[in-house]
Amino acid sequence: MSHEEELRRELIRAAALSQEEIATKVRAVGFRCLGCGECCRGPECEVALFPHEVERIMAYTGEPWLEVAEPPRVGEWDDLGNFHTLEWRICKGEDCHYYNGIGCSIYSRRPTICRTYPFYLARSDLKFSECRGLGQAIGEEEALMIAGSLIERYILEIEEALELISKFRDFRRASASKDGHMIVHDSRGEHGIRWEDLPGVLNILLGDEPSQ
Ligand code: SF4
Ligand code: SF4
Repeated sequence: MSHEEELRRELIRAAALSQEEIATKVRAVGFRCLGCGECCRGPECEVALFPHEVERIMAYTGEPWLEVAEPPRVGEWDDLGNFHTLEWRICKGEDCHYYNGIGCSIYSRRPTICRTYPFYLARSDLKFSECRGLGQAIGEEEALMIAGSLIERYILEIEEALELISKFRDFRRASASKDGHMIVHDSRGEHGIRWEDLPGVLNILLGDEPSQ
């Protein structure tokens, strides 16, 4: 079965998921955010976001696209010297660009992945990432709310992946080069970005500087 067929099948399963059943699983694990900020800080913090989420943050903060989101530094080179990567990540230095030392400065506009942390769905089942708040008692209403957001996010992820596949144009793989530019593939198509608009990234990709 192709990846696209698998995604289409999973989309049908995701649409049939029961919010109540997921909420029961969330309650069995238990969770209350203790506000430690560990999911917003440090090298492990990598927040994936979709184009409409970038635009929602841009409208809130007034920042241009590349100050909100950056391309991941994982990808492949083509024979014209372009580096191809998938989707976007919130910009970060040491920590998430929006972590203000106490909490999230874009809390009402934070991406779906942050709204549902530490939980996520994979193969329609509940999974969770590392978090100090796991195991804490959680009310029925809150668990239902988390379950609703989890299903919404899961469907969105699959739909975005399908859109990306439908717009993806394959390319001939080659070695790294300084000739081209960055190309980000997302659900809206291809986005070319000049290296001068991504300071330092080309050198990191070419191995001239340590990655951050
Ligand atoms: S979600 Fe977990 S890791 Fe993140 S701030 Fe809350 S308790 Fe800490
Ligand atoms: S967007 Fe907000 S909640 Fe999400 S990682 Fe950044 S600071 Fe944390």
